[in-house]
Amino acid sequence: MFQGLSEKLQETFKRLKGKGKLKESDVNEAMREVRVALLEADVNFKVVKDFVAKVKERSIGQEVLESLSPAQHVIKIVHEEMIELMGGATGKILISSKPPTIILLIGLQGAGKTTHAAKLANMLKKQGKHPLLVACDIYRPAAIKQLQVLGGQLNVPVFSMGQEAPRDIAKASIAHANQNGQDVVIIDTAGRLHINEELMGELRDIKSAVKPHEILLVVDAMTGQDAVNVAESFHNELGLDGVILTKLDGDTRGGGALSIKAVTGCTIKFVGIGEKMDALEPFHPDRMASRILG
Ligand code: GDP
Repeated sequence: MFQGLSEKLQETFKRLKGKGKLKESDVNEAMREVRVALLEADVNFKVVKDFVAKVKERSIGQEVLESLSPAQHVIKIVHEEMIELMGGATGKILISSKPPTIILLIGLQGAGKTTHAAKLANMLKKQGKHPLLVACDIYRPAAIKQLQVLGGQLNVPVFSMGQEAPRDIAKASIAHANQNGQDVVIIDTAGRLHINEELMGELRDIKSAVKPHEILLVVDAMTGQDAVNVAESFHNELGLDGVILTKLDGDTRGGGALSIKAVTGCTIKFVGIGEKMDALEPFHPDRMASRILG
Protein backbone atom coordinates (compact mmCIF):
# COMPACT_ATOMS: atom_id res chain seq x y z
CA MET A 1 0.00 0.00 0.00
CA PHE A 2 1.31 3.45 -0.99
CA GLN A 3 4.73 1.94 -1.64
CA GLY A 4 5.99 4.60 -4.05
CA LEU A 5 5.02 7.43 -1.71
CA SER A 6 6.52 5.65 1.29
CA GLU A 7 9.82 5.00 -0.42
CA LYS A 8 10.18 8.56 -1.67
CA LEU A 9 9.41 10.12 1.70
CA GLN A 10 11.77 7.74 3.48
CA GLU A 11 14.58 8.68 1.08
CA THR A 12 13.98 12.36 1.68
CA PHE A 13 14.00 11.92 5.45
CA LYS A 14 17.11 9.77 5.33
CA ARG A 15 18.94 12.54 3.50
CA LEU A 16 17.64 15.08 5.98
CA LYS A 17 18.82 13.02 8.94
CA GLY A 18 22.26 12.67 7.36
CA LYS A 19 22.73 16.44 7.45
CA GLY A 20 22.89 16.91 11.20
CA LYS A 21 22.23 20.55 11.79
CA LEU A 22 19.65 21.98 9.41
CA LYS A 23 19.45 25.29 7.59
CA GLU A 24 16.28 26.81 6.29
CA SER A 25 17.36 25.85 2.77
CA ASP A 26 17.64 22.18 3.80
CA VAL A 27 14.03 22.21 4.99
CA ASN A 28 12.94 23.95 1.80
CA GLU A 29 14.66 21.33 -0.32
CA ALA A 30 13.11 18.48 1.66
CA MET A 31 9.69 20.07 1.32
CA ARG A 32 10.14 20.34 -2.44
CA GLU A 33 10.71 16.60 -2.49
CA VAL A 34 7.73 15.92 -0.23
CA ARG A 35 5.61 18.05 -2.55
CA VAL A 36 6.67 16.05 -5.63
CA ALA A 37 6.15 12.72 -3.82
CA LEU A 38 2.62 13.67 -2.78
CA LEU A 39 1.70 14.95 -6.24
CA GLU A 40 3.04 11.75 -7.80
CA ALA A 41 0.86 9.82 -5.34
CA ASP A 42 -2.11 11.64 -6.86
CA VAL A 43 -2.88 13.76 -3.82
CA ASN A 44 -5.06 16.77 -4.63
CA PHE A 45 -2.97 19.77 -5.74
CA LYS A 46 -4.41 22.22 -3.22
CA VAL A 47 -4.14 19.70 -0.40
CA VAL A 48 -0.44 19.27 -1.19
CA LYS A 49 0.13 23.02 -1.30
CA ASP A 50 -1.53 23.62 2.08
CA PHE A 51 0.15 20.61 3.64
CA VAL A 52 3.66 21.65 2.59
CA ALA A 53 3.04 25.24 3.64
CA LYS A 54 1.96 24.13 7.12
CA VAL A 55 4.89 21.77 7.61
CA LYS A 56 7.31 24.44 6.41
CA GLU A 57 5.87 27.09 8.68
CA ARG A 58 6.18 24.84 11.70
CA SER A 59 9.64 23.56 10.74
CA ILE A 60 11.47 26.77 9.93
CA GLY A 61 11.48 28.10 13.45
CA GLN A 62 14.38 28.60 15.83
CA GLU A 63 13.03 25.92 18.09
CA VAL A 64 13.13 23.19 15.45
CA LEU A 65 16.27 24.16 13.57
CA GLU A 66 18.27 24.60 16.77
CA SER A 67 16.98 21.47 18.46
CA LEU A 68 19.25 18.51 19.11
CA SER A 69 17.81 16.40 16.30
CA PRO A 70 16.17 18.82 13.88
CA ALA A 71 15.47 16.20 11.19
CA GLN A 72 13.51 14.08 13.68
CA HIS A 73 11.60 17.17 14.62
CA VAL A 74 10.66 17.86 10.99
CA ILE A 75 9.62 14.22 10.46
CA LYS A 76 7.44 14.43 13.56
CA ILE A 77 5.75 17.52 12.17
CA VAL A 78 5.10 15.76 8.84
CA HIS A 79 3.61 12.83 10.77
CA GLU A 80 1.35 15.07 12.85
CA GLU A 81 0.16 17.07 9.85
CA MET A 82 -0.57 13.86 7.94
CA ILE A 83 -2.77 12.62 10.80
CA GLU A 84 -4.51 15.99 10.85
CA LEU A 85 -5.09 15.71 7.09
CA MET A 86 -6.87 12.37 7.40
CA GLY A 87 -8.17 12.95 10.93
CA GLY A 88 -11.43 12.74 12.73
CA ALA A 89 -12.49 9.21 11.83
CA THR A 90 -14.08 7.00 14.42
CA GLY A 91 -14.00 3.73 12.48
CA LYS A 92 -17.33 2.89 14.08
CA ILE A 93 -20.96 2.58 13.13
CA LEU A 94 -23.08 4.78 15.37
CA ILE A 95 -25.72 2.46 16.76
CA SER A 96 -29.12 4.08 17.16
CA SER A 97 -30.74 3.92 20.60
CA LYS A 98 -33.94 2.93 18.83
CA PRO A 99 -33.36 -0.15 16.62
CA PRO A 100 -32.95 -0.85 13.85
CA THR A 101 -29.87 1.18 12.98
CA ILE A 102 -30.20 1.89 9.27
CA ILE A 103 -27.08 2.01 7.10
CA LEU A 104 -27.31 3.07 3.47
CA LEU A 105 -24.41 2.11 1.23
CA ILE A 106 -24.04 4.15 -1.93
CA GLY A 107 -21.45 4.55 -4.66
CA LEU A 108 -20.58 3.94 -8.28
CA GLN A 109 -20.79 0.54 -9.93
CA GLY A 110 -17.89 -1.73 -9.10
CA ALA A 111 -16.70 0.32 -6.11
CA GLY A 112 -17.40 -2.60 -3.78
CA LYS A 113 -20.83 -1.81 -2.30
CA THR A 114 -22.22 -5.35 -2.28
CA THR A 115 -18.98 -6.80 -0.95
CA HIS A 116 -18.78 -4.17 1.78
CA ALA A 117 -22.44 -4.50 2.75
CA ALA A 118 -21.62 -8.13 3.53
CA LYS A 119 -18.31 -7.26 5.23
CA LEU A 120 -20.10 -4.76 7.47
CA ALA A 121 -22.77 -7.34 8.31
CA ASN A 122 -20.00 -9.78 9.22
CA MET A 123 -18.26 -7.23 11.44
CA LEU A 124 -21.50 -6.21 13.21
CA LYS A 125 -22.54 -9.82 13.70
CA LYS A 126 -19.22 -10.48 15.43
CA GLN A 127 -20.03 -7.54 17.69
CA GLY A 128 -23.24 -9.28 18.75
CA LYS A 129 -25.65 -7.48 16.42
CA HIS A 130 -28.32 -9.08 14.27
CA PRO A 131 -27.92 -7.52 10.84
CA LEU A 132 -30.27 -7.70 7.86
CA LEU A 133 -28.88 -7.21 4.36
CA VAL A 134 -31.21 -5.52 1.88
CA ALA A 135 -30.92 -5.89 -1.91
CA CYS A 136 -31.87 -2.59 -3.55
CA ASP A 137 -29.62 -3.01 -6.61
CA ILE A 138 -32.49 -3.95 -8.89
CA TYR A 139 -30.80 -3.34 -12.24
CA ARG A 140 -28.11 -5.97 -12.02
CA PRO A 141 -29.87 -9.32 -11.46
CA ALA A 142 -26.51 -10.77 -10.43
CA ALA A 143 -26.27 -8.23 -7.60
CA ILE A 144 -29.22 -9.71 -5.70
CA LYS A 145 -27.79 -13.18 -6.15
CA GLN A 146 -24.33 -11.98 -5.08
CA LEU A 147 -25.77 -10.53 -1.85
CA GLN A 148 -27.74 -13.73 -1.20
CA VAL A 149 -24.63 -15.86 -1.68
CA LEU A 150 -22.57 -13.68 0.67
CA GLY A 151 -25.40 -13.54 3.22
CA GLY A 152 -25.64 -17.34 3.02
CA GLN A 153 -21.92 -17.71 3.72
CA LEU A 154 -22.18 -15.42 6.74
CA ASN A 155 -25.48 -16.77 7.96
CA VAL A 156 -26.99 -13.28 7.69
CA PRO A 157 -30.54 -12.96 6.28
CA VAL A 158 -31.01 -11.09 2.99
CA PHE A 159 -34.19 -9.18 2.23
CA SER A 160 -35.15 -8.78 -1.44
CA MET A 161 -38.26 -8.01 -3.48
CA GLY A 162 -36.89 -8.56 -6.96
CA GLN A 163 -37.21 -5.55 -9.25
CA GLU A 164 -39.64 -3.51 -7.12
CA ALA A 165 -38.88 0.17 -6.64
CA PRO A 166 -35.80 0.55 -4.40
CA ARG A 167 -37.55 2.95 -2.02
CA ASP A 168 -40.37 0.42 -1.49
CA ILE A 169 -37.92 -2.41 -0.89
CA ALA A 170 -35.98 -0.28 1.59
CA LYS A 171 -39.14 0.72 3.44
CA ALA A 172 -40.48 -2.84 3.59
CA SER A 173 -37.11 -4.09 4.88
CA ILE A 174 -37.39 -1.90 7.99
CA ALA A 175 -40.79 -3.38 8.87
CA HIS A 176 -39.33 -6.84 8.22
CA ALA A 177 -36.38 -6.12 10.55
CA ASN A 178 -38.72 -4.89 13.26
CA GLN A 179 -40.80 -8.05 13.02
CA ASN A 180 -37.81 -10.37 13.03
CA GLY A 181 -35.61 -8.79 15.70
CA GLN A 182 -32.91 -7.56 13.35
CA ASP A 183 -31.27 -4.53 14.91
CA VAL A 184 -29.12 -3.29 12.01
CA VAL A 185 -30.35 -2.90 8.44
CA ILE A 186 -27.69 -2.59 5.74
CA ILE A 187 -29.08 -1.41 2.41
CA ASP A 188 -27.08 -2.21 -0.74
CA THR A 189 -28.03 0.18 -3.55
CA ALA A 190 -27.47 0.23 -7.29
CA GLY A 191 -24.56 2.21 -8.69
CA ARG A 192 -24.01 3.56 -12.17
CA LEU A 193 -20.84 3.92 -14.20
CA HIS A 194 -21.01 7.68 -13.65
CA ILE A 195 -22.93 9.99 -11.38
CA ASN A 196 -26.20 11.06 -12.97
CA GLU A 197 -29.49 12.59 -11.93
CA GLU A 198 -31.35 9.28 -12.12
CA LEU A 199 -28.96 7.73 -9.58
CA MET A 200 -29.12 10.72 -7.24
CA GLY A 201 -32.93 10.85 -7.51
CA GLU A 202 -33.20 7.18 -6.61
CA LEU A 203 -30.88 7.56 -3.62
CA ARG A 204 -32.71 10.68 -2.41
CA ASP A 205 -35.95 8.66 -2.59
CA ILE A 206 -34.51 5.84 -0.48
CA LYS A 207 -33.04 8.35 1.95
CA SER A 208 -36.38 10.08 2.50
CA ALA A 209 -38.23 6.74 2.75
CA VAL A 210 -36.04 5.23 5.50
CA LYS A 211 -34.10 8.15 7.07
CA PRO A 212 -30.82 6.26 7.47
CA HIS A 213 -28.63 6.80 10.53
CA GLU A 214 -25.51 6.35 8.44
CA ILE A 215 -25.06 7.10 4.76
CA LEU A 216 -21.73 5.59 3.80
CA LEU A 217 -20.12 6.14 0.44
CA VAL A 218 -18.15 3.22 -0.95
CA VAL A 219 -15.30 4.39 -3.19
CA ASP A 220 -12.51 2.60 -4.97
CA ALA A 221 -9.10 3.85 -3.80
CA MET A 222 -7.57 2.79 -7.12
CA THR A 223 -9.40 5.63 -8.85
CA GLY A 224 -7.33 8.28 -7.02
CA GLN A 225 -8.59 11.83 -7.57
CA ASP A 226 -11.76 10.50 -9.20
CA ALA A 227 -12.61 8.97 -5.83
CA VAL A 228 -12.28 12.41 -4.28
CA ASN A 229 -14.49 14.04 -6.93
CA VAL A 230 -17.09 11.29 -6.55
CA ALA A 231 -17.08 11.77 -2.77
CA GLU A 232 -17.54 15.51 -3.17
CA SER A 233 -20.56 15.08 -5.50
CA PHE A 234 -22.28 12.47 -3.34
CA HIS A 235 -21.65 14.53 -0.22
CA ASN A 236 -23.15 17.66 -1.79
CA GLU A 237 -26.21 15.77 -3.02
CA LEU A 238 -26.96 13.45 -0.12
CA GLY A 239 -24.86 14.42 2.89
CA LEU A 240 -22.49 11.60 3.77
CA ASP A 241 -21.72 10.36 7.27
CA GLY A 242 -18.55 8.66 6.18
CA VAL A 243 -16.58 6.90 3.49
CA ILE A 244 -15.48 3.31 3.02
CA LEU A 245 -12.32 3.37 0.92
CA THR A 246 -11.96 0.03 -0.84
CA LYS A 247 -9.24 -1.93 -2.63
CA LEU A 248 -6.43 -0.51 -0.55
CA ASP A 249 -4.79 -3.92 -0.92
CA GLY A 250 -4.22 -3.08 -4.58
CA ASP A 251 -1.52 -0.93 -6.08
CA THR A 252 -3.01 2.39 -4.95
CA ARG A 253 -0.89 5.49 -4.74
CA GLY A 254 -2.50 7.16 -1.75
CA GLY A 255 -4.23 10.16 -3.32
CA GLY A 256 -7.71 9.14 -2.18
CA ALA A 257 -6.80 8.37 1.42
CA LEU A 258 -4.85 11.60 1.79
CA SER A 259 -7.26 13.96 0.01
CA ILE A 260 -10.84 12.89 0.76
CA LYS A 261 -11.13 14.44 4.22
CA ALA A 262 -9.36 17.67 3.29
CA VAL A 263 -11.35 18.21 0.09
CA THR A 264 -14.81 17.05 1.13
CA GLY A 265 -14.81 17.33 4.93
CA CYS A 266 -15.99 13.70 5.06
CA THR A 267 -14.06 11.24 7.14
CA ILE A 268 -12.98 7.79 6.02
CA LYS A 269 -14.54 5.35 8.49
CA PHE A 270 -13.39 2.02 7.11
CA VAL A 271 -10.99 0.63 4.56
CA GLY A 272 -11.40 -2.47 2.44
CA ILE A 273 -8.23 -4.49 2.06
CA GLY A 274 -9.28 -7.55 0.07
CA GLU A 275 -12.14 -9.56 -1.34
CA LYS A 276 -12.59 -11.79 1.70
CA MET A 277 -15.30 -11.09 4.24
CA ASP A 278 -12.88 -10.20 7.03
CA ALA A 279 -10.89 -7.78 4.86
CA LEU A 280 -12.40 -4.70 6.47
CA GLU A 281 -10.59 -2.43 8.92
CA PRO A 282 -11.56 0.66 10.86
CA PHE A 283 -9.61 3.60 9.47
CA HIS A 284 -6.99 4.98 11.85
CA PRO A 285 -5.30 8.13 10.52
CA ASP A 286 -2.37 7.70 12.93
CA ARG A 287 -1.69 4.13 11.82
CA MET A 288 -2.06 5.12 8.18
CA ALA A 289 0.43 7.97 8.61
CA SER A 290 2.88 5.60 10.31
CA ARG A 291 2.50 3.11 7.47
CA ILE A 292 3.21 5.81 4.91
CA LEU A 293 6.17 7.28 6.76
CA GLY A 294 7.62 3.87 7.67
P1 GDP B 1 -20.52 -2.94 -6.41
O1 GDP B 1 -20.84 -2.88 -7.86
O2 GDP B 1 -20.19 -1.57 -5.87
O3 GDP B 1 -21.53 -3.63 -5.57
O4 GDP B 1 -19.12 -3.73 -6.28
P2 GDP B 1 -18.85 -5.25 -5.82
O5 GDP B 1 -19.07 -5.39 -4.35
O6 GDP B 1 -19.57 -6.18 -6.72
O7 GDP B 1 -17.27 -5.31 -6.06
C1 GDP B 1 -16.70 -5.22 -7.34
C2 GDP B 1 -15.42 -6.06 -7.38
O8 GDP B 1 -14.44 -5.53 -6.50
C3 GDP B 1 -15.66 -7.49 -6.92
O9 GDP B 1 -14.92 -8.35 -7.76
C4 GDP B 1 -15.11 -7.51 -5.49
O10 GDP B 1 -14.66 -8.78 -5.12
C5 GDP B 1 -13.97 -6.53 -5.61
N1 GDP B 1 -13.66 -5.87 -4.33
C6 GDP B 1 -14.51 -5.24 -3.48
N2 GDP B 1 -13.84 -4.73 -2.42
C7 GDP B 1 -12.54 -5.06 -2.57
C8 GDP B 1 -11.34 -4.80 -1.80
O11 GDP B 1 -11.32 -4.15 -0.74
N3 GDP B 1 -10.18 -5.31 -2.32
C9 GDP B 1 -10.14 -6.00 -3.49
N4 GDP B 1 -8.97 -6.44 -3.93
N5 GDP B 1 -11.24 -6.23 -4.24
C10 GDP B 1 -12.42 -5.78 -3.79
